[in-house]
Order: sequence, then C-alpha cells, then structure tokens
Amino acid sequence: MTALLSTHGLIAGYGDMRALHGIDFAIEPGETVALIGANGAGKSTLLRAIMGLLPVASDMVTLDGAAVGGSAPHLMVQNGIAIVPEGRRLFAGMTVEENLRVASEHAAKPHGTPWTQEAVYDLFPILREKAATSVENLSGGQQQMVSIGRGLLAQPRVLLCDEISLGLAPRVVREIYEALPQVTAQGTALVLVEQDVGLAQRASGRLYCLLEGRVTLEGRSLDISRDDISKAYFGAS
Ligand code: ATP
Repeated sequence: MTALLSTHGLIAGYGDMRALHGIDFAIEPGETVALIGANGAGKSTLLRAIMGLLPVASDMVTLDGAAVGGSAPHLMVQNGIAIVPEGRRLFAGMTVEENLRVASEHAAKPHGTPWTQEAVYDLFPILREKAATSVENLSGGQQQMVSIGRGLLAQPRVLLCDEISLGLAPRVVREIYEALPQVTAQGTALVLVEQDVGLAQRASGRLYCLLEGRVTLEGRSLDISRDDISKAYFGAS
C-alpha cells in the first residue's frame, strides 16, 4: 500500500554537514506519529527536509506515491503538508483572528471537511475569547494554539509539529495534546517532534527514534518498552 507521506533513504544537511543519513519514514491518513531523539538527533531537520526548507532529491519524499521532495515550501503547502514551526513564529502586531486569516489565504485545497476559523475556535475555545487580542499579549500556550490553528487552516493532509510542548506548563501541554485526537479524527495526519518521551509515546500510534541522523527504532508506541527506547535514544547496546 502506498503511504500518504513517506521518505525514502532521505539524506539532508546544512552545506557540507550531513545531518540525516538515509531516513525511511511513513505516515497514513489520521495517524499520529511521534519523532523522538536527543538534541541534535535530526528531528527538526527531517521536518524541514520534508517541508522543502532544505534541498532534497525529489524521489526522497513521496506524497500518495508521487515524488515531491525538494519542492518549494509554498508548493508543499499546496500539496497538503504544513508545519507548526519550533518557536511558533506568529505575525507580531497582528491579532489572533488576523494570524488565522492569513493562514487561510495560502491554504491547500481541502481534502475532507475544511478547517475554518470557527472549527479552530471550537478546538481551542480560549482563542475565540482572544480573537481581537494581539498575539504578543497571549500566553505561550495560547500562542502555540494559534500556531497550531494556523497550521490547520492551511488545510493540511499532514501537519508537522515541531516541539509544540516546549516551554509550556504541564497543564497547558495537556490541554493542547487533548485536542489533537479531534484533528486526526478529521483524517489529518500528525507528525509530532517531542522531547518528552512519555508524552510522545502516549500521544502517538507509532514512533520513530532518531540518533545522529539515523532511525534507531520504529514501531507501535504501545509495544515499545522503556528499555528499547533508552537503547535507541542513547545508542547503548
Ligand atoms: P533539537 O531538539 O536540538 O532541535 P533535533 O533532533 O531537532 O534537535 P536538528 O535541529 O535537526 O536536531 O539538528 C541535527 C543536526 O543538524 C545537529 O548536528 C545540528 O547541530 C545541525 N543543525 C541544525 N540546524 C542547523 C543549521 N541551521 N545550520 C547548521 N547545522 C544545523
């Protein structure tokens, strides 16, 4: 069966520095897949490479079996891939509503039920209350909700989320993670780069562990033991 999105022996890096050494990855519609690994393992680089933010050969990334690797990021968005970047990168000086509206203007053709601003407000009700608030006056958690909402309004088939829990209080992380099943229920696939291994394991159906630019473990999250993860994470034999 052809996966929705897959990478095939994906190699990518920065100038002469190779950060990924042949990554095979796949995700199906509605799946939640976690990417774990230590700092510098290559998780963000994999998201950037998929998104077309780093040069990759076209056949290293396929969407519904079609080679799309290395397409410009705006074309990847049109193809149905969106990213919630590390650090959120919202449009400062603009309100919640304006940030969400801009995202809708550069969206892919919806595959199923389209995401609307109302649907984003239903997902994160606090954003409805804060719709007219400038994003720099939001808490970190609320900003992260806007960033996820913006990703969804791009109407992605696959949403790549880079460390959405980073720097947030546990209660807020729980609130955000509890909303994610509503996203996948719509058929959107989620790739979660997550530092918190326990959270990654609980929130995902499958996970991949990266170490120094290679996949050291892949499997169903519930079937993987802490011991397996520890070996894959640190490279201990
Ligand atoms: P982190 O949790 O620290 O973000 P990560 O698993 O996402 O870790 P990457 O950020 O993908 O790791 O980094 C993989 C490798 O690429 C590391 O050796 C890192 O130093 C290097 N790297 C990342 N970004 C750049 C960049 N912009 N320029 C040069 N090297 C980079």
